[in-house]
Amino acid sequence: MTHYSVLIVGAGLAGLMAAKQFSGENVNYIILDKGRSVGGRMATKRLNGGRSDYGAQFFTARSDRMKNLVKQWEQEGIIHTWAKGFHQMKDIADLGSLTLHHDGYPRYAGKNGMNALTKQLANGLNIKLEHEVEKIEWTDKWSIFVRVGKNSELLTYTADQLMLTSPIPKSLALLSDGRLPLEEQLLEELKNTSYFPCLCAMIALDRPTQIPKPGGIQIKEGLISFLGDNAQKGISDTIVVTIHGNEHWSRKNYEQDDQYILEKLIEAARPLLGDGKVIEKQLKRWRYSKPELLHPNEFVATTIPGVIAFAGDIFKRGAVEGAILSGIEASKWMLKR
Ligand SMILES: Cc1cc2nc3c(=O)[nH]c(=O)nc-3n(C[C@H](O)[C@H](O)[C@H](O)COP(=O)(O)OP(=O)(O)OC[C@H]3O[C@@H](n4cnc5c(N)ncnc54)[C@H](O)[C@@H]3O)c2cc1C
Repeated sequence: MTHYSVLIVGAGLAGLMAAKQFSGENVNYIILDKGRSVGGRMATKRLNGGRSDYGAQFFTARSDRMKNLVKQWEQEGIIHTWAKGFHQMKDIADLGSLTLHHDGYPRYAGKNGMNALTKQLANGLNIKLEHEVEKIEWTDKWSIFVRVGKNSELLTYTADQLMLTSPIPKSLALLSDGRLPLEEQLLEELKNTSYFPCLCAMIALDRPTQIPKPGGIQIKEGLISFLGDNAQKGISDTIVVTIHGNEHWSRKNYEQDDQYILEKLIEAARPLLGDGKVIEKQLKRWRYSKPELLHPNEFVATTIPGVIAFAGDIFKRGAVEGAILSGIEASKWMLKR
């Protein structure tokens, strides 16, 4: 059994930024993540010798704290400004509605993909990957039961303080598999959270697309919500396109088979793909892509029965910036305990 002062579930942005604070204060902490890489929804995949960002596409900086972080990451050369606005469309089927919306605010992206930014943030942090938390219980401390690899025995970690950064329904499931030791009001707030799914196609083409500069199109209605040309974005040496299904379409078609989903997304995007041949395609199902409704606080926490905080992009600002600020604020609260 291994004991830590703080155990963080999830090495996405919220977990990584929290861990950075603990690391700076010499707290004995650990992050456990079920994935093979850090980053969570900051995800990048290799395709036909190129790259596709298939989770978060870009991020903005509205708060001073985020602006400072962005400045630092730009100086370190790990992010760049992708654009200051994207083309907008009403519906992918309505090509005439394509207009460039330039509002002047920078949209940032990881220089070598969004995942590369999180890998950089994870440098030097105490993280165990492929460690899937299956159950959490409270006695006089937190007991965290972890599966390492599919057929392995459950390992037990213990901790004085616990931070959960997985999407809230997942976090609650971990606790309810144990004995759900939370206060009723807190539990109610958390139970009311929900996320949109997103069906995402990644495709490699044999020639450039018709997607206009700077390579991103945001679409309001219909089948597709975002089209990203990763070559124009500057992260791919070959032509690789990311197609995000609209949240309602993704929900309705979530259980359809891979072939059906890929065909529908590619067919709908075709007018902007040009006549390029698809040489590779992959599908990613995000069950929890973005919150449906944001929780008004920066994070949620309690000391009853033990110190526990919930952080992530469901809180306050949402998106990349929200996840980052949530992780930082939750860790500051914990440092005061
Ligand atoms: C398709 C899509 C498009 C998006 N586009 C944008 C965008 O353009 N701009 C923007 O700002 N945001 C966007 N987002 C949202 C953005 O990616 C998220 O807000 C942000 O990355 C969330 O970070 P997080 O740390 O809160 O959660 P996550 O990144 O989800 O991190 C949670 C981590 O917990 C781990 N985990 C879960 N369960 C367990 C378990 N049982 N045991 C161990 N580990 C576990 C996961 O593996 C994951 O690494 C998009 C998201 C998606 C999916």
